Amino acid sequence: MLRPNAFAKVAGPSAILAAVGCTFWLWPAHFLWVFPASGALFIWFSWSGEKEVKYIFLFLVTAAGFILPKLSGGGESFPLMAGAIAEVLCLWLLFFALSYFESSRLSLRERLAAEEAAARVKVKNLEDELARYRLHLDSTLARMRDKGALSAAIQDMGSASTPDEVKGRLEALLNNYFPGALVELHSGAPRDFADKWVAERKIPLLVRNSQTDSRFARGFFGPGERSFMALPLHLFGRLVGFVRASAPEPDRFKAGDLRGAELACTLAGVSMENIHLFEKVNELAIKDGLTGLYTHRAFQSRLEEEILRSARTKVPFSVIMADIDHFKSYNDTFGHQAGDAVLKAVAETIAGGVREIDFAARYGGEEFALVVTGAGRAQAAAAAENIRRSLEARSFNFGGKRSAVTASFGVAEFPAEASAAGQLVRAADERLYRAKQAGRNRVVSA
Ligand code: GH3
Ligand code: MG
Ligand code: MG
Repeated sequence: MLRPNAFAKVAGPSAILAAVGCTFWLWPAHFLWVFPASGALFIWFSWSGEKEVKYIFLFLVTAAGFILPKLSGGGESFPLMAGAIAEVLCLWLLFFALSYFESSRLSLRERLAAEEAAARVKVKNLEDELARYRLHLDSTLARMRDKGALSAAIQDMGSASTPDEVKGRLEALLNNYFPGALVELHSGAPRDFADKWVAERKIPLLVRNSQTDSRFARGFFGPGERSFMALPLHLFGRLVGFVRASAPEPDRFKAGDLRGAELACTLAGVSMENIHLFEKVNELAIKDGLTGLYTHRAFQSRLEEEILRSARTKVPFSVIMADIDHFKSYNDTFGHQAGDAVLKAVAETIAGGVREIDFAARYGGEEFALVVTGAGRAQAAAAAENIRRSLEARSFNFGGKRSAVTASFGVAEFPAEASAAGQLVRAADERLYRAKQAGRNRVVSA
């Protein structure tokens, strides 16, 4: 069935043709007004068709303009012909005017279409850019989250006070990072091929799929180890252990995960080093570098503690002050290093002569101070006498000549002989002086 538009296209010219035929048949003399009216209608109706159709209609109208005057019975009279030619020219004018308007309308439409296409491209570009920004935002947020977690982990590990605590926190961090994966830590030598691989290459190992990994023999990894990571743990540049994580599914760990785990291991190593250094610094502050005995400062604080404890428990304690006899002469005769060796040996003898609960310190130069816990004057004097004898019995080699080193001792008791730390030390020191005066190599306790 013809659609209304197509019907109009066919019916319009047909009706015009029929009307023109009829009009000519009935009133051929009315040619001059029938022709332009019908020609204009023809052009009008042909306009919706193809370009060629328009020109065919224009041709038909033009031909009609030349033929119809002859058929109209007016013959070839000049006014009729001139009128017909003028009408044909007017129709041509109409045709070209329509063509001009149509082409300008089309170019306007094309321009609008081009502008619309350009706008669409712009919108698409903006949408792409927005999508990229969103992606960037997501990854930035993820990075911020990672950094936040990392800084929390740094603080967490930094606040640990023992290496075991650091290990525990590293394990917890990795378990948090890789939920569902099995995380293990072990210290010591490599246990298997994977550990050896890491130890030899000094880099972490990442196995994305153990069933297809050509570096390891089939069956090396268990069914729960399709994905596998092994990382070294270093302490002061030395390999001290391994961290490994495994999961039953392939591709569980990515390169970024390996980097994160490596960072966590480095962090744990640094935290352990810090603990180690902290302990060392603390030890240096309270232990004398040459003799290994406690320092003067440590002695003073122990003395204060002991006084408080004794005042509370009503159990006395004693202080022994000791000074090496004629020490200057060892230095002067055999040199400072020989003097140092004597100092070390005397310190060793003193430390060996007291109980675990007692406290031996290098008071300064070649003087020593001891806190004998829970002991009265007599018991402390007996301990001092033991030390004196042990030292006297010890044989020293000075430039090939064997000789003995002796020391003098002064003993005082708290609270019977003093009510404060300074007073107690002074009392013991005063007895030490008396021991020197009395000929040295002796203990004075009264
Ligand atoms: P005495 O105590 O028996 O009266 O005689 P002394 O020779 O021991 O006398 P004094 O206490 O005055 O001598 C202390 C000497 O100890 C002086 C110093 O050269 C030496 N001395 C102090 N500290 C050190 C040290 O760290 N190393 C060495 N080698 N010598 C030291
Ligand atoms: Mg001295
Ligand atoms: Mg001396």
